[in-house]
Amino acid sequence: MNTSDILVVGAGIFGTTAALELRRRGYAVTLIDPGPLPHPLAASTDISKVVRMEYGQDRQYMRMVDKAIDGFVAWNEELGETLYHNTGVLMLTQEPMEQVPYNWDSFRLLQAEGHAPERLDSAAIAQRFPAWNAQRYVGGFYSPRGGYAESGRIVSALQSLARREGVLLHEGQTADELLGTTGQVTGVRTREGTTFHADHVLVAAGAWTQLLLPELQPVMKATGHPVFHLKPNNPTLFTPPNFAVFTADVSRTGWYGFPFNPREGVVKVALHDPGNILHPEQGERVVYADEIAQLRGFLAETFPALADAELVYTRRCLYCDTLDEHFWIDRHPRRAGLSVSTGGSGHGFKFAPVLGGLAADVVEGKANPWLAKFAWRTLDAGTHGEEASRFHGDK
Ligand SMILES: Cc1cc2nc3c(=O)[nH]c(=O)nc-3n(C[C@H](O)[C@H](O)[C@H](O)COP(=O)(O)OP(=O)(O)OC[C@H]3O[C@@H](n4cnc5c(N)ncnc54)[C@H](O)[C@@H]3O)c2cc1C
Repeated sequence: MNTSDILVVGAGIFGTTAALELRRRGYAVTLIDPGPLPHPLAASTDISKVVRMEYGQDRQYMRMVDKAIDGFVAWNEELGETLYHNTGVLMLTQEPMEQVPYNWDSFRLLQAEGHAPERLDSAAIAQRFPAWNAQRYVGGFYSPRGGYAESGRIVSALQSLARREGVLLHEGQTADELLGTTGQVTGVRTREGTTFHADHVLVAAGAWTQLLLPELQPVMKATGHPVFHLKPNNPTLFTPPNFAVFTADVSRTGWYGFPFNPREGVVKVALHDPGNILHPEQGERVVYADEIAQLRGFLAETFPALADAELVYTRRCLYCDTLDEHFWIDRHPRRAGLSVSTGGSGHGFKFAPVLGGLAADVVEGKANPWLAKFAWRTLDAGTHGEEASRFHGDK
């Protein structure tokens, strides 16, 4: 009989960090996922994710990432490998920064919070970061606190740690149906025919969550976003200190990326924009020719040395996109014994070291000032995305 105190459905970063934290709080925890792990289609499974404190005027997100960065540094120790790289973050604009609210607000809030972002003009950009077209990118700042996390490797290392600490991790199990009554959830039955019982079920199934909990379909959707890996002819130009994690006027273009990744031998570039709505299981996860043409256009006007670089890999990855782009971490309002931790909306991984604590506080019913933002809420067609760095399309 698969019985535990807490059953966590989904072993991406939201589920894995929750399972580990709940285990450390003394619960018997089971974690299930179709696998193999880390799941190749999971959003968390990637070579790198941006870790940035810059969220416009949003002080809570900035403070959460500030705390998360300390957590990533501690994981580098605990996991015995440097999987978080503090390259700093380059936030550049195509106009003087005062005219770009996302960058200007982030810059001033960083200063107000006691951080030391370094303002840059065209000459400084050309001198310090020679890969950039400093005729086009004329303003912005460099923030020395931030960088990238090797997300897939972190998930894998945390899962090994969770197993060692007694989390029962079942791969090859796909939750299909919640068990119990309408008012009380007591477990799940899987597509593979197994039944798992628990006092509390936490659903953290990323973009697939709405399939298991259809009542969430009106407030979240799965959206697909292209990712590109390029092989630079001159890796040094794209290696710190010549280069850093970057956003290229992201709130108005969507473009962002990473320095040369020595392990993978590539420079990764991606698009943080509206994306296209996809079914998590049936949707076409391909990158289209017009998106590659868009990429080439961006590279030619931004990184001349990368304009003709070989494109060695592309991927369409799914966001679990809430309508307001804030996470969804709360107990179910009508079903006891059920909670949800999801809604990463394309920006959740950087919070990994604090996500487990948030989900565990929800399961335990503990107060946490950061949870109000992620509570079960009413959203409708009139709701706008609020994530400050996101390009919401030409308005
Ligand atoms: C292209 C792209 C770029 C991104 N870049 C960044 C970035 O730079 N910085 C950042 O902070 N964030 C970024 N994100 C967001 C971040 O990756 C996500 O917010 C985060 O990884 C979501 O984690 P998750 O655990 O909710 O979902 P996932 O990682 O998708 O994991 C969900 C898991 O649930 C499992 N599952 C699904 N259905 C079931 C079921 N029925 N039963 C059991 N298990 C199930 C799946 O197999 C999967 O393993 C990006 C996302 C994408 C797609």
